[in-house]
Amino acid sequence: MSEGFIPLSVPNFSGNEKQYVSEAVVSEWVSTGGSMVSGFEEKLAAYVGMPRAVACNSGTSGLHLALLAAGVKPGDEVLAPTLTFIAAVNPIRYCGAEPVFLGCDDSLCLDPALLEAFCEKECVLKEDGLYRRQSGKRVAAVVAVHVFGNLADMPRIMAAAQKYRLKVIEDATEALGTRYTEGPYQGRFAGTIGDAGAYSFNGNKIITTGAGGMTVSLHPDWAERMKYLSTQAKDDLLQFLHGDVGYNYRMTNLQAALGLAQLEQLEGFIAHKHALYDFYRERLDGKKGIKMLGFRPGTRPNEWFFSLYLEDYPLERDALIDALSKKQIQTRPIWALIHEQKPYRKNEAFGVEKAADYRARIVNIPCSTNLSFEDAGRVAAAIIELAE
Ligand SMILES: *Cc1c(COP(=O)(O)O)cnc(C)c1O
Repeated sequence: MSEGFIPLSVPNFSGNEKQYVSEAVVSEWVSTGGSMVSGFEEKLAAYVGMPRAVACNSGTSGLHLALLAAGVKPGDEVLAPTLTFIAAVNPIRYCGAEPVFLGCDDSLCLDPALLEAFCEKECVLKEDGLYRRQSGKRVAAVVAVHVFGNLADMPRIMAAAQKYRLKVIEDATEALGTRYTEGPYQGRFAGTIGDAGAYSFNGNKIITTGAGGMTVSLHPDWAERMKYLSTQAKDDLLQFLHGDVGYNYRMTNLQAALGLAQLEQLEGFIAHKHALYDFYRERLDGKKGIKMLGFRPGTRPNEWFFSLYLEDYPLERDALIDALSKKQIQTRPIWALIHEQKPYRKNEAFGVEKAADYRARIVNIPCSTNLSFEDAGRVAAAIIELAE
C-alpha cells in the first residue's frame, strides 16, 4: 500500500547528476566560467534543433533578455495572457513597457481569436509597426505561453503576428520537449517558432538545474544580443569596457553540470509523464463530474502538468485541495489571473471569461517524473473516494 507524502512535482536525479556535479567541483570550475555551460548550451540547442542556445540564471531572466532583444522599450505595449505564471509578464515591466492582457482558448494558452480581434479593432497598422488607435502607443510584441507543456496555437498566432508586425516571444518554460507532429510547424519544438523562446530549469520544471534557464532565437543577432546582455554587456576580455547596461544573468558551471545530466533523461521523463497521464485519465476522466484536460492534437506534448477540470464534482476547488492535503497529497489551483493582481489592476484585459472559469475549476495533481503508479493510484482513488 502506498503511504507517505506525495508531492506535486519534484526533481528526479537518477542519472549522471552526482558524477557531473562532482566533476565540476573537482575541477574547481563552479562559477560562471567552465566548459559545462557551453556544453549544455550546445546539447540543448541540438535537442530543440536550433543553431544556438544562450544559458541564463532563470526562465524569468531569459524572458527579459528575449524582450530586450525584441527591442521592447519604455512606453511600448506587449500582449500577454492573463492565465499564466506572473514571471511571464513581469519582464515586460522590467523593459518599461505595459502588458495588455488577453484570455485563453481550451488549451489554456493565449486565444489567437482574441489576438486577431485586438489587432483589428484596437490598433492601426502603420509603416513602422502596430499602434493603438486611441493612445497612439506602439504594440511591440506578444508573449505566447505554452501552458503546462501544451502548445499555444502557433500557426494562427504567427499568422497574426506577421500580418500585424508583432514580435513573438515564446514562454516555453513549461514546455521543453513539446513539439508539433503535424501541420506547418511539424517537427518544430515549443520555443523555436517565434522570434525568441525561453526555457526554465527551476526545481518544479520537467528538467532542473536548481534554478536556471535558456533562450533561443532563429535570428543570430538576437542570440548574440541576449548573450551580451546576460554577461554584463562586456566588449572586451581584459579592459573592462562595456557598451551597454548589461545584467548578471549567467548560469553557473555547477548548474550546467546538473543540466547535462538531466537533458540525457528528458525523453525518458516525457515517456513516464505520458504513461502517468494515461493512467490518471483512465481512472478520473468522465468520473464524478471530473474532466481531465487534454493536450493539443497534432503535437507531442511533454505533459508537464496534469489538469483536472471540476465540471460537476461535489467539492469545490479549494475544498478538494484541502481534503487531499489532509491525505498527504499535494495539489494546487491554477494561477490567479494576472490582470486582477495588485501590480496589474490598471492594465487592460480582453476576453478573460474562459480564463476565469478555468481559474475557478482547475486542480493540478501530482505529476513528478519519479512518481510511481502505486502513488498515482492512491491519488486517483482519493479523488474518487472524496466524491462519495
Ligand atoms: C516557471 C515559469 C517561468 C519562470 O521561470 P523561472 O526559471 O522560475 O524564472 C515563467 N513563466 C512560466 C509560465 C513558468 O511556469
